[in-house]
Amino acid sequence: MAYVINDDCVACGTCIDECPVEAISEGDKYSIDPDKCTECGTCASVCPSDAIHPGE
Ligand code: SF4
Repeated sequence: MAYVINDDCVACGTCIDECPVEAISEGDKYSIDPDKCTECGTCASVCPSDAIHPGE
């Protein structure tokens, strides 16, 4: 399953430049396109709010 950004996201922008497949979109809270995400985990490892986790 693709990674998912939860409500802890503060839209800081740290993750968006780290995703190798440009799956992350900006917004009030950021979101991940599940069709693009390769589940590499890079975004989760850099998120300072610990808001990104593998989907269920
Ligand atoms: Fe991008 Fe990897 Fe995060 Fe998926 S897990 S959104 S591919 S950085």
